[in-house]
Amino acid sequence: MKHVPTVETQSLSPVAADRLRELVALVLERNPFHRARLEGVDPDGELRLTDLPPLGKRELVADQARHAPFGTNLSYPLERYTQLWQTSGTTGPPLRVLDTAEDWAWWRGLFAHTLRVAGIRPEDRVALAFSFGPHVQFWAAQQGLQELEAMAVPLGGMPSVQRLQTIAEVEATAVWCTPTYALRLLEVAVEQRLEGALESVQRVICTGEPGASLPAVRSRIEDGFAAQCIDHAGLTEAGPFGYPCPAGHGLHVLEEEFACEIVDDELRPTALGQGGELLITPLRRTGSPVLRFRTGDVVVNTDARCPAGHEDRWLPGGIVGRTDDMVVIRGMNVYPSAVEEAVRRVSGSGEFRITFYSEPTGLDEIKLEVELEEGDGARRLQDIMRQQLGLRVRIVPVTPGILPRPDGKSRRVVDDRPVRAGAP
Ligand SMILES: [Zn+2]
Repeated sequence: MKHVPTVETQSLSPVAADRLRELVALVLERNPFHRARLEGVDPDGELRLTDLPPLGKRELVADQARHAPFGTNLSYPLERYTQLWQTSGTTGPPLRVLDTAEDWAWWRGLFAHTLRVAGIRPEDRVALAFSFGPHVQFWAAQQGLQELEAMAVPLGGMPSVQRLQTIAEVEATAVWCTPTYALRLLEVAVEQRLEGALESVQRVICTGEPGASLPAVRSRIEDGFAAQCIDHAGLTEAGPFGYPCPAGHGLHVLEEEFACEIVDDELRPTALGQGGELLITPLRRTGSPVLRFRTGDVVVNTDARCPAGHEDRWLPGGIVGRTDDMVVIRGMNVYPSAVEEAVRRVSGSGEFRITFYSEPTGLDEIKLEVELEEGDGARRLQDIMRQQLGLRVRIVPVTPGILPRPDGKSRRVVDDRPVRAGAP
């Protein structure tokens, strides 16, 4: 019989504690990445969750770069794995994450749970308004619907007008997309006089970015669609950890599936009522597991029940921000450092200033003021942005010398978008 370490797990339920013990035993036995990280952890001694080192995405990316193409975070031989995902990322290579058939079934079950809680039933017809790229959430959405025996209506590869027409023709009862795209679809419906196309839609399920937890975005979607806006949260590395409160009060976490910690900048537990970074340990995904994964998502720590009295762990307001300065624009991760890199590639470019702002429609945009000499610098910069970053940026050339110079404190980034309510 294989050895199972003792884990000090006082904050975990008995079921979660057992699952954590099993997981730690498994990675110590089989997983080279975690075995190396847990060096010094005594499997025979008492072990606390907080004794395990938190894991950042950067560490996984570095491991994968050293051991291409999949890295060493593998608990089984490669032939056991059936799904390959990629995280999105504008800087550096994306991270590949593998799932076994068992892990994929786990995703499917959790997405079905989210949908059930959100009120989706077998008779629903759910329009999937995304492109089915290498990102897990699209495929997990489809799987969750299959589990519920609801109808999935893929709209990949269609322009927005055709999507609206399809939604109308099949009388879709729900639309699943990013919050940014939900707003875009509304905009197109108004422009094309197709508002009636959305009449059958009762629910808008949002994915891929935190917008649906933001009150302003949420109410804009709910008003525009005359439908309920449903949020959920997850990461390729950590699984779908946040399911929507059915009464609309933020997110909940199934703690028998995910060990959940909220920590400050120095990785100490945050006080009640404070915001902090969410660390997630998925307890039953064993193929490419993560322990104490740093999600970068900021949530508020509370031991209260949600106003509707639901028992599962409550994240008031859902995901209220990000720990890094990454900005999500139209579903794309934007790093100011990547924009700077592009500016620097244009010869003769000087100081610059990035402004993130919201159009009256609610769509986020980027303005880049940049000091450029005469010539075709602006066009070159536009090309670089589009090709390297996949971004459409409004470039405003200004006279050299006119922009303020950073003095070490001031920043080149201005965020004029509405403040996220509840952000720390
Ligand atoms: Zn609730």
